[in-house]
Amino acid sequence: MTPKLVLFDCDGTLVDSQQMIVATMTEAFTKLGHAPPDRAGVLSIIGLSLPEAVGRLDPSLDVARVALVAEAYRDTYQAMQFRLAETAPLYPGALDALRTLSGREDVLLGIVTGKSRRGLDAILETHGLTNLFSVLRTADDGPSKPHPFMVVDAMSALGGDASQTVVVGDTGYDMLMARAAGAFALGVTWGYNIRDELSQAGAQELADDFAEVPSLAMGLLGAKE
Ligand SMILES: [Mg+2]
Repeated sequence: MTPKLVLFDCDGTLVDSQQMIVATMTEAFTKLGHAPPDRAGVLSIIGLSLPEAVGRLDPSLDVARVALVAEAYRDTYQAMQFRLAETAPLYPGALDALRTLSGREDVLLGIVTGKSRRGLDAILETHGLTNLFSVLRTADDGPSKPHPFMVVDAMSALGGDASQTVVVGDTGYDMLMARAAGAFALGVTWGYNIRDELSQAGAQELADDFAEVPSLAMGLLGAKE
C-alpha cells in the first residue's frame, strides 16, 4: 500500500529558530565587513538554502563573497549549537502532533528543509526527534525551495505518491514547493509568513495551532484522524 507521507519544514514550522538565525546572519555579514541585513530581511529568506539566502540579502555580493558569508554563517551557527535547546525551541504542541501522526500505521514522516544536514541533525538530536522521521531532505541534497526536488525525492525514497503526500510549512516557498511536486500544501501560521502569503502561494489548509495539524493533514489525504 502507498504510505501517506507528511513532510515537515523545520525552521518556523517545527522549531522557533528566528532569534538564532537573525543573530547568526548578523554576525556572518559583520565578520566579513559587510553591513548586516535588517531583521525583516533575514526573516524573509528563512527556508531558502544558505547561498541563495545570502545572495538575496545583499545582491551586490559576487559569488565568491556570498560563499564566504555563507561559510561564516555555518561557523557561527556551529559555535551556537550547544545552546540549541534554548535558542531553537520546539513550538508548543509539536511533539504531541508528531507522535500522533507517527503512531499511525499508514503514515510516514519526513523533513524537507533549506537547512544543511548538519544543522538539521543537531536540531533533531537536541529535541530527541531523530527516530520519528523516515526521510530527511536538506539543502545538501539538491535545489532549494520552491523547486519541488526535495518533495519528489522524499516520495521516491519511501515509495510515496504525490496524491498521498502533504507538505507542512510556514512559508510561501513551502507551499509553492508542495504544489509544484503535485502534493498537498498545509500552511502553519505561527512561523515567518502571514496567512495571505501562504494562501497566495497555494496553501489548501491553514493551521493556527499545532494540535490541528494531524487532522488537517489527514483530511487533505482523505483519511480519518
Ligand atoms: Mg520554514
